[in-house]
Amino acid sequence: EAHKESHGFQTEAKQLLHLMIHSLYSNKEIFLRELVSNASDAADKLRFEALSKPELLAEDPDLRIRIEFDKDAGTLTISDNGIGMSRDEVIENLGTIARSGTASFMQNLTGDQKKDAHLIGQFGVGFYSAFIVADKVDVFTRRAGADASQGVHWECSGEAEYSVENVEWPNRGTRVVLHLKDDATEFADDWRLRSIIKKYSDHIAIPVEMLKQAAPAGEDDESKEEKAPEFEAVNAAQALWTRPRSEVKSEEYQEFYKHISHDFDDPLTWSHNRVEGKLDYTSLLYIPARAPFDLYQRDAARGLKLYVQRTFIMDDAEQFLPLYLRFVKGVLDSNDLPLNVSREILQKDQNTDAIKSALTKRVLDMLDKLSKKDADQYQKFWDLFGSVMKEGPAEDFSNKEKIAKLLRFSTTHTDSDKQDQSLEAYVGRMKEGQKHIYYVCADNFATAKSSPYLEVFRKKGIEVLLLTDQVDEWFVGHMQEFDGKQFQDVAKGALDLGDAENEDDKAEREKVEKEAGALVERVKEVLESRVEDVRATTRLVDSPACLVASDNDMGLQMRRILEQAGQ
Ligand code: ADP
Ligand code: MG
Repeated sequence: EAHKESHGFQTEAKQLLHLMIHSLYSNKEIFLRELVSNASDAADKLRFEALSKPELLAEDPDLRIRIEFDKDAGTLTISDNGIGMSRDEVIENLGTIARSGTASFMQNLTGDQKKDAHLIGQFGVGFYSAFIVADKVDVFTRRAGADASQGVHWECSGEAEYSVENVEWPNRGTRVVLHLKDDATEFADDWRLRSIIKKYSDHIAIPVEMLKQAAPAGEDDESKEEKAPEFEAVNAAQALWTRPRSEVKSEEYQEFYKHISHDFDDPLTWSHNRVEGKLDYTSLLYIPARAPFDLYQRDAARGLKLYVQRTFIMDDAEQFLPLYLRFVKGVLDSNDLPLNVSREILQKDQNTDAIKSALTKRVLDMLDKLSKKDADQYQKFWDLFGSVMKEGPAEDFSNKEKIAKLLRFSTTHTDSDKQDQSLEAYVGRMKEGQKHIYYVCADNFATAKSSPYLEVFRKKGIEVLLLTDQVDEWFVGHMQEFDGKQFQDVAKGALDLGDAENEDDKAEREKVEKEAGALVERVKEVLESRVEDVRATTRLVDSPACLVASDNDMGLQMRRILEQAGQ
């Protein structure tokens, strides 16, 4: 029984669909990349399931994707013989957006199409991009292993709802039929389709096929009798990371990034490496040019696409990079791990830790290189992911030095909220005799910049880091020192400017202490138990008094965070 039902889209899916249709019209052709990308993922998933159930693949072992069109009917069809979908999977995958946090994120939509279009990139354009060029979409699909009676037909011709029904379907896999809009009929064209496939999908590891061009009439008379249509591959059909670096063009790396990351912007940089020897693997790691909305959500998907001997094993393998590098996207193809590897096995496998430590170094080196080669691009990276990188010293003590070199701060040297000063630059500007790297923590830049604690530093021309990220206080606690210089909170304890305090300063301090002696005693009496100590100081220039925490107190910023948390 067909059992046709109508379903409304989940609210978030409806919003995304609406956004897609109305904001991506300027780059219509990307729908093909997305649908081919899905077909390729479906082939990967089938190969993986066939590792334990070879019969799934046996009847039709050559995985491929086909693109066909019918100019008269105005349709374009993308079909694959991959994993396919069951009825439940169709409803789940094509009617909802499962990513956690989506609902709250969607509430941030402004209604301004230009701004909102940027948001799409944080989700990936995906299947719904079909509606950029089609006013009606049919999906016919059959899950690998299910019989012909278990086919499913999904149909949608609007933003509000779709229908599903069971149909007889002769083969495994998925067929997506696009009924092209009047202004998109240009895509029902052999040459146009071939060039789009070359441009966006050349790196897809299985053949993307189109009908072979008919031989010119009269050339081959015997073959005039009825023949099955012949297809030919349009793409290179080789997994990109298996090719030598020197043969892969930048554009190909960029397209491959979009295929694995679901991002539609180019990445900032990448690193492609083949490692042989004790470990044997290939990695291709990318730094995105866009932060996902769930960068700070604990349960957000992260990690690499894992292949073992070129067979896809899993998405989001998070075991190969530390948490503070969770923004990195890419592929790891290992020859050491077993094909039946699972997340549990990965956690225990010794290779995992060895690869993780090698990939971590690889990413840090890639960032170091970027910072030296292209300061503007590096600044973009820092603005997006800097506060995540600051989690590094706590999580990855062994790479503290490398991480430290990558850090950027806003400081009194520039007095700008742009975090663009390195610790090396700070140290290079240190005053003679200065022993510490000074910093002030505050909730925001304006407060940090106008902090009374800074007065004496400004007077003496000593640079102070202006720290305003949530993570900062925790971060300096773990960083502790750089290049042998301790970090020192200017709001803590007695002010020790090291040898930067000269004889005159010392004389002045002693004079002030003597003159203010009586006042200090009086203030101490009044404030009594509310403060630990009252001292005269030369650290203030314009302000009459300031509060400082004692050396072993927790910092003010940390204290405020705890107070907010009700502690
Ligand atoms: P993504 O590819 O990022 O997961 P999409 O919107 O492109 O998101 O696709 C949504 C889901 O629909 C996929 O994750 C997959 O489960 C399913 N899907 C889409 N196309 C196919 C296909 N050709 N074969 C099997 N499943 C598919
Ligand atoms: Mg997709």
